Amino acid sequence: MTTEPKVYSLYHYIGGNKVSGGSGRNGDVYDPATGRVAKHVPFAGKGEVERAIAVAAHAFPGWAATPPAKRSQVMFAFRDLIRQNMDNLAQLVSSEHGKTLEDAKGSVTRGLEVVEFACGIPQLLKGEYSEGVASGVDSYATRQPLGVCAGITPFNFPAMVPMWMFPVAIACGNTFVLKPSEKDPSCSLKLAELMQEAGLPDGVFNVIMGDKEAVDTLLTDHRVEGISFVGSTAIGEYVYATGSAHGKRVQALCGAKNHMVIMPDADMDQVTDAAMGAGYGSAGERCMAISVLVTVGDETGDEVVRRLEPRVRELKVGPYTDSSTDMGPLVTPQHLEKVRGYVDTGIEEGAKLVIDGRDIEVPSYEDGAYLGGCLFDHVTEDMRIYKEEIFGPVLSIIRAGTYEEALRLVNDHEYGNGAAIFTRDGDCARNFTHRARIGMIGVNVPIPVPVAYHSFGGWKRSLFGDHHIHGPEGVRFYTRLKTVTARWPSGIKDGAEFHFKSGSG
Ligand code: NAD
Repeated sequence: MTTEPKVYSLYHYIGGNKVSGGSGRNGDVYDPATGRVAKHVPFAGKGEVERAIAVAAHAFPGWAATPPAKRSQVMFAFRDLIRQNMDNLAQLVSSEHGKTLEDAKGSVTRGLEVVEFACGIPQLLKGEYSEGVASGVDSYATRQPLGVCAGITPFNFPAMVPMWMFPVAIACGNTFVLKPSEKDPSCSLKLAELMQEAGLPDGVFNVIMGDKEAVDTLLTDHRVEGISFVGSTAIGEYVYATGSAHGKRVQALCGAKNHMVIMPDADMDQVTDAAMGAGYGSAGERCMAISVLVTVGDETGDEVVRRLEPRVRELKVGPYTDSSTDMGPLVTPQHLEKVRGYVDTGIEEGAKLVIDGRDIEVPSYEDGAYLGGCLFDHVTEDMRIYKEEIFGPVLSIIRAGTYEEALRLVNDHEYGNGAAIFTRDGDCARNFTHRARIGMIGVNVPIPVPVAYHSFGGWKRSLFGDHHIHGPEGVRFYTRLKTVTARWPSGIKDGAEFHFKSGSG
């Protein structure tokens, strides 16, 4: 007799406690490698989210008053715990997202680097002081935490993207409510437990599971001061508009269609490796994935197709448990259907499907959400497969006659997250980095994700709000500037003043 594997129920994490869902609404968490529902995730009702916000608001004054060096000690301990739990965290990422274990570890490491950045918070929060701005008057500027901040995160980086947010927010003295993706939420719970083990007081970091109802409560509750969102453009625009209308500071990092411009003088070995890794790594489910290759000149286009065709065919698609896998499944059966639908659309629109990954079979994993690598050539600007974000292993080649045409394509696209140029010509690379209307640019680097001590963010409809995330912009986002002008009784007394004084007057 075979017994069905157990389906686990997840929970919220509020005030340092595991709290079972109470709304009666739940979602399914898949193991995408097998297609099986492995866990149930509770969807919080308004009251449950309000409870988490109340706990975070209560914890705020004590945490904000904790010296930055003590907050930093918690971050140092958290850093060590992430390293000790790396395998476990990567396993959680892979088992719910589907990406390979190596890729999962890489993403946890990129999150860890933000924690390391946050360890330096005493230095980062140092203010500015000007002595003697007028007779007997000194002036200084400090940055203070906002209060309760919330994070709403996508499925594609269940460890890294939350770690773009809460380590910086919490190190700055804020308290935090995280609403992770309902598709792969377990990693956030593990991170919350590790923060507690690192010595974080209860209530400073809370995790609430849920969907739109939870998000809407965070966006409208007057006790939430700042909202960081990462996800699709349609939802990000809504989050930005709703949160801003309710008086909150909002940063919403959104969708992308990242172009890689290939000049005729580029190193073609480098181009081929870059296009493979950036187009098909993590099954294309990265906001910085390359989804469009813009080849300049017909010969360049032909050469790129000639080199890519066998490589895409040879991609090893399989479960994360197989160490020889290049590319895992998509996150859910529903997402697989959406991406397959885009391949159908591309054919109907008249693009040339050079490699069709739709009929892939992974032995023993027949129900997994697998799609083989797909490659389209002769894609044009009017096609949906060019205009819209597909978020799967589907790479499009669009052929440009000249560099100027390639640059125009990059600049005319509604998204502006990342773009790369491959060339040996420094003048051309400089022209591109200067003129491309894009937030993050790579020169012979296909996925130019900034390191933790720089900031990450796109332009155009890839970002709503003023601040990029982590690095110096992260500290600015999670703090408010306060400027103090002080005079003490022993200073020079001018008597009553009825006109504005300047420093020089
Ligand atoms: P998504 O927009 O569907 O979900 C993101 C978050 O919003 C989740 O927590 C989800 O529960 C919540 N949400 C979903 N529908 C909602 C609604 N109607 N109202 C309120 N909240 C809602 O995104 P996803 O599919 O999880 O992630 C993929 C997207 O994220 C892609 O578009 C990708 O480009 C983007 N992304 C962007 C970046 C970046 O830095 N720019 C990074 C990673 C992912």
